[in-house]
Amino acid sequence: KAKISGKNTYRIFDNDMKKNNERTFIIQNDLRDAIKNNEFVLYYQPRIRTEDLKIIGVEALIRWVHPKLGLISPGEFISIAEDSGLIGNIGEWVLETACKQLAAWSKMGCKDLTMSVNFSALQFLQVNLQETVKTIINKCNVDPQKLEIEITESAVIDQDVGLQENINKLKEIGFQIAIDDFGTGYSSLAYIKKFQVNTIKIDQSFLINIIEDKSNEIIVSAVIKLAQALGLNVVAEGVETSDQFHKLKEMDCKEVQGFFFSKPLPKEEVEKNFLM
Ligand code: C2E
Ligand code: MG
Ligand code: MG
Ligand code: MG
Repeated sequence: KAKISGKNTYRIFDNDMKKNNERTFIIQNDLRDAIKNNEFVLYYQPRIRTEDLKIIGVEALIRWVHPKLGLISPGEFISIAEDSGLIGNIGEWVLETACKQLAAWSKMGCKDLTMSVNFSALQFLQVNLQETVKTIINKCNVDPQKLEIEITESAVIDQDVGLQENINKLKEIGFQIAIDDFGTGYSSLAYIKKFQVNTIKIDQSFLINIIEDKSNEIIVSAVIKLAQALGLNVVAEGVETSDQFHKLKEMDCKEVQGFFFSKPLPKEEVEKNFLM
């Protein structure tokens, strides 16, 4: 009996693998033309001020609307883009699209809104990053002070030579720098100093059970205090419940982001629900 079920299990696994391989193959294959075919879209997740629940900014999050596979999340294709050398072009598309949107919202009267954009660590290793980025912000006519580049901590690890130089160059242009998923990578504290970041985004994993789990509560509270003592902004990511929000408010966390306020939305819905 055990043998039969073992065999069945194996066969199911095998089919799943085949399906996954097919999907990965399609993704790898079609990614190259996705920009040209206009298949990427940015969603925007509001960043909310705890004090008065006002929107202070948005984070741009890429989605791929594939003609056959439908909506594909960045978790599934960003690493493929990195491996296949396409992340540079995709990153430029993201930055330019986000800058154009920021300019449009500024024109609409939302002049204080900030735009956060995720950068892959590989983008920081691009040789002409500074020129490329300057060209984009000039073309879109946006104030770099209103733009924040989010770097995922775990991505930083082995490559900090070119990275530090390029972060400095972006800071010279006027960009804000945020450490994303804070607390999940290595040497987090060293990065704060080394890269002179402006913002710490506390990883959502620390908010799980923040009400019952004393150690998570202590960690989050300590990070908030640390950030404040260093004069940095701190954002709690992945706030899903009213309890979490109130706990964070109690801890004096000034900015929050998460499904409790809004999931990432297409631009029209951001306008309708938050900007008008
Ligand atoms: P991230 O930058 O840490 O973004 C937060 C992720 O958590 C987003 O997933 C967002 O939809 C999700 N999220 C937000 N609030 C909640 C919540 O309350 N609960 C839960 N469970 N999840 C929440 P998404 O959009 O799938 O993006 C995943 C990751 O992909 C991002 O993590 C970021 O590292 C990367 N990414 C997204 N867009 C880009 C991009 O344009 N360029 C690059 N290089 N990476 C990107
Ligand atoms: Mg992010
Ligand atoms: Mg994050
Ligand atoms: Mg993340």
